[in-house]
This record gives sequence, structure tokens and C-alpha cells, in this order.
Amino acid sequence: MEAIQAIRGTKDILPEEVVYWQYVEKVAAEILEKAAYREIRTPIFEYTHLFERGIGETTDVVGKEMYTFIDKGNRSITLRPEGTAGVVRAYIQNKLYASGGVERLWYCGAMFRYERPQAGRQRQFHQIGLELLGSDSPRADVEVITLATEILKALGLESLSLQLNSVGSVEDRQRYRQALVDYLTPYKGDLDKDSQERLTRNPLRILDSKDSKTQEIVKGAPSILDYLSVDSRRHFDTVCSLLTDLGIAYQLNPHLVRGLDYYTHTAFEIQSADLGAQATVCGGGRYDGLVSQLGGNDTPAVGWAMGMERLILLLQNIRPMTPPGVDIYIASRGEKAERQALIVAQHLRQAGFRVELDLSGSNFAKQLKRASKSGAKRCLIIGDEEVENNTIQLKDLTTGQQQTLSQSQLIGFLGGGGIRD
Ligand code: ATP
Ligand code: MG
Repeated sequence: MEAIQAIRGTKDILPEEVVYWQYVEKVAAEILEKAAYREIRTPIFEYTHLFERGIGETTDVVGKEMYTFIDKGNRSITLRPEGTAGVVRAYIQNKLYASGGVERLWYCGAMFRYERPQAGRQRQFHQIGLELLGSDSPRADVEVITLATEILKALGLESLSLQLNSVGSVEDRQRYRQALVDYLTPYKGDLDKDSQERLTRNPLRILDSKDSKTQEIVKGAPSILDYLSVDSRRHFDTVCSLLTDLGIAYQLNPHLVRGLDYYTHTAFEIQSADLGAQATVCGGGRYDGLVSQLGGNDTPAVGWAMGMERLILLLQNIRPMTPPGVDIYIASRGEKAERQALIVAQHLRQAGFRVELDLSGSNFAKQLKRASKSGAKRCLIIGDEEVENNTIQLKDLTTGQQQTLSQSQLIGFLGGGGIRD
């Protein structure tokens, strides 16, 4: 029968790779928890309406990329394409605002977008992200940006650049939008097809076009930074100067607009020179309108998300990691010996060792071969004779030396509590 394959755009994360995932999650969790962020886990699917209302119907994510289906109860359901909408829904529904202060949350999990799969771009992918809700201070923007750069630094990633922009308030954007449409309209015929369509639906997204001809045209476009109100400008200038205080380098990029509609003021991306076309490892910004848009009280907020797959691609190049091996391998043969081996394995694990038990029933020569392959430094051998005498053979797999121990001596001899030499 033909074997069934994984769905296009999804990937198995095999044990050799899982070590990288665990490492990234651990490093990120430690840094975020030190800054008083608490982990939140929201459902992987939500009502489609949440994303339509939250992300915006004219965005690529909602317009083209969502996995949407009707469930057996006739509800329209969508696999989450990003984390923020769900976290904000949870914040409102669970009244996390009730404490009255700032709420700091982080999350990690699978997201789903129907995109063309390529290196660093999948249909099921994973993000680690955070949201800071309840502060409109530029210090909040800087706190979250700093945490992103700290995580990347702790992972040892280099050649990263922080791109920074302000997309202003809703009113600033409306004025800018008009200026942009006025500039682009004479070039309409030369824009790529998607951008032509966006000219009326969502012109800011044209700034983000990957088409080279469109990019040339966009180079001459007006800068949104020239359309900021005094207040928006002050907010942005403060963000910039606080980043400078903290020694965080950034590049102003007035063409940086994020894919989702809910951003206001600060928008940023962190890009890697080592990732080819899928260069962005982290994207985020301020989204002051989203909480009220989703039915909560007016609450300013700022956050970001990092693509785990892209982080791990970078990490694999600079830091080889292997899954933990075992300390001790147990070979046994004969009914009684095999029974006893199970008990010995249990005791050793309780004493803190990593123990692999040979279950093959094959001869000792074959079992010892597997023991060498396992990476264990030591092998215990239990056969009929050992059962008879209440002993055990201990073979040092590095030196090849073998000795006989009484079973009661064993743990004491091995040193108890998880030696990992
Ligand atoms: P891109 O321009 O690469 O499509 P985006 O603006 O759609 O990114 P966001 O929605 O801001 O991405 O998501 C934040 C991060 O999640 C991205 O910077 C990227 O690292 C990662 N990401 C987004 N989409 C995918 C995907 N399909 N596969 C893998 N990672 C992704
Ligand atoms: Mg995208």
C-alpha cells in the first residue's frame, strides 16, 4: 500500500532537530520571565470572525492565507494564522485587564497560513511571541524591542538588523494613504498585479511588494514619517532615543509596513542577512486599536512574534547540537535475566541515570554492538550466570574493561545520582 505523506507545507520535527526547539524555547522563556511576562496558551482554532475583525479583511493573511472550514455545527472556524488576535480575545474574555495595570503575556505555538512553501516559509509554522497590554508609553515599545534583541543575542545570532518605522495614528495613515495613492496612480500600469489591486484596497501594502519593478517605483514614494502628527512624531522620537540610550542600533525604514491592519505608531522587524529571501525573523509593533476593535475597552498594546523555523535555521548553522544520549545500556539474555534487567533499569533511572534497555532478545554480541552505537559509556550485562550469583557484569565501553559486581553494590559503585561523565 502507498505510504501516506505529511501535508505540503508541514514538516516533522525529528528528534535531532527537537533539541534546537527546546533550546530556543528555554532561552526565550528565561528572558521573558525575568521581565515579568507570563505564558499564555490559547486555542489553535477560533471563530473566523475574530481574525476578520482583528487582522483586517483586506490583508493577505485574511484574504488569501487562512485555513477556514465549516465545522459539523455549521460554524466558520479558522486555524490561527497568528497569535495576537487570540491573546487579545483571551485578555478581554478572561478580564485580564481587571488588575488595572499592565498585562505582559507571551506564547509559543503553531500557526497556519496557506502560503507557497519554501525555505523558511511553511503552511504550519511556529511562532514565539509576546504582548504588552495597557501601556501607551514609548518605554513599552522599547521594552518589547529590547526583549526581542536580548533573545536573539542570547541565542548567539549575529548579522541582524533592526528596521524601525512609525505608521502613525489612524488619522496620520489616512492622510498618508491619500498621498501614496496620488503618487502611485500615474504608475499604475507598471505595478505588479497584486499591487494594482491594492491601490484601492490597501495601498500601504504596496510598499512591502517583493516585485522588483514595483520596488523601483516605491523608492520615490513619499515617506510616512513626513505625515506623522506632532504627538505621533514625539512618540516615535522618544522610542528612537530610548533605543539609543540602551545601545540598540536600528535603521529607519519608512517603507516598513506590517502585514496586518492593526498596527499603529511603532512598527519594526528584525532581519538576518543569513536567511536569503525569508529574511525576517521577528516582526512586531504597536496596535492601540485592536483591543477595542475586538470588543474590549480602549487599551493600548504592543508586541511581536518571531518565526521559530527561521530562528532554528540560523541556529543550526552556528551551533551544532545533538539530542542527549544514554549513560548506561543494559544487555540481558534469558527469561530470568530479562526480568531482572527491567528492575535494574528502573532502579538506575530512579537514581538519576539515563538508561536504555535492550529488548531484542538477540545474542550478547549483537546487543553489545548496539550498546556501543548507543553512545553509552557503560554497559551492564545480565545473563543466566549473573542471575544465579546475584551479580552483574559492568563493561566500560570506552576502555573495553569488564568487571563483576554484586547487584547490591551496583548503584554505589556507579556513584548514584546521574554521573554524566
Ligand atoms: P513574511 O513577510 O515573511 O511573510 P509576515 O509579515 O507575514 O512575514 P508576521 O505575520 O509578522 O510575518 O509573523 C512574524 C514572523 O513569523 C515572521 O517574521 C516570520 O519569521 C514568521 N513567519 C511568518 N509567516 C511564516 C511562514 N509561513 N512560515 C514560517 N515562518 C513564518
Ligand atoms: Mg507573510
